[in-house]
Amino acid sequence: MAEPRLPLCAIYGGTFDPIHYGHLKPVEALAKQVALHQVTIMPNNVPPHRPQPEASSQQRKEMVELAVAGLPLFSLDDRELQRSTPSYTVETLEQVRTERGDRQPLAFIIGQDSLLSLHRWHRWEALLDLCHLLVCQRPGYPIAMDNAEQQNWLDSHVTTCPEALHSAPAGKIFLAQTPLYDISATSIRQRLEQGLSCDDLVPQPVLEYINQHHLYR
Ligand code: ATP
Repeated sequence: MAEPRLPLCAIYGGTFDPIHYGHLKPVEALAKQVALHQVTIMPNNVPPHRPQPEASSQQRKEMVELAVAGLPLFSLDDRELQRSTPSYTVETLEQVRTERGDRQPLAFIIGQDSLLSLHRWHRWEALLDLCHLLVCQRPGYPIAMDNAEQQNWLDSHVTTCPEALHSAPAGKIFLAQTPLYDISATSIRQRLEQGLSCDDLVPQPVLEYINQHHLYR
């Protein structure tokens, strides 16, 4: 007898300084397109040589909690924040894979900008052994990869069929047709510093938290 199918779950990594609608809305559309069962948001530490988040780990985590309250699609996993050092995505995914077993279809969600720079990630070639990649469109970033080698890598893994993400545990890249949100955490921090409104960019409870904690001033 065939074993029952396991649902497709996804991990969504990022700094989330702060979390905004450009994170949430495309992923909600993506979840419908490919029938995602659950999206686990995993905020990360930032390596010391990169600009540090302005909000603390605890604050970034609390803002994610506020943003996804009442959205059953999303959950939060703060394992990377509990470590004092930055984690490599590939190592976190190895840990998740060990926990969930070899058969579980597992995906990692990124924006188009992250796809274009993926070849700079630690052990990036191992990522597709561990998960599928689901890519959300992001305004201002080209669809094509930087060079022929990277484009060949993309072409050899890409699928346009959501079913392919359910029938294998890892190994595919899905370029989703998600709505475009011209929002970045950087632009939100700049707007807040200038006293400009972010009402349409960030969920209201997150904005209230930002104001209460005098963040990004
Ligand atoms: P910053 O401006 O501080 O660099 P960011 O807005 O790009 O932050 P991150 O937390 O670094 O947000 O991003 C986490 C993930 O979300 C990345 O894979 C990124 O590509 C994706 N992402 C962020 N904003 C958008 C957006 N507007 N549309 C689609 N994907 C996005």
